[in-house]
Amino acid sequence: MSFHTRRAVKSTRKLRVCYWCGVRIEVGEPAVRLTGVGPDGWYDEHLHPECDRACDEYVRRPEFGPGDEVPSQEHPRGVCWPLRFPAGQGPPELVGEEP
Ligand SMILES: [Zn+2]
Repeated sequence: MSFHTRRAVKSTRKLRVCYWCGVRIEVGEPAVRLTGVGPDGWYDEHLHPECDRACDEYVRRPEFGPGDEVPSQEHPRGVCWPLRFPAGQGPPELVGEEP
C-alpha cells in the first residue's frame, strides 16, 4: 500500500534542498512538501513551487509508467525535461548559475 500527500508551505522554517533541482530552499521561502510511502519506504521531500509544477508535468506525461521514478536533483530549477532523450542525445548543457 502506498499513499502520498502534498502540501504548500508558505514559509519554510528550516533550510531544505529541493528534490527536483538540488538547489537550496532558504528559510522563509515558500515550498511544496511531499510526504508519503513509496516503493522504497517513507519519504519527506521539499520542492520549490516551480519545481513542483515541473515535477507534476513530468509524472503526467503519457510515457511515465508505474515503474518509472522521478529523478532526484537532475533537472534545472523549474524545468521539466523529457523522460528519455533520443539515442545519442543528452540533456542540454546547463547555462548560468550553478546550484
Ligand atoms: Zn527546485
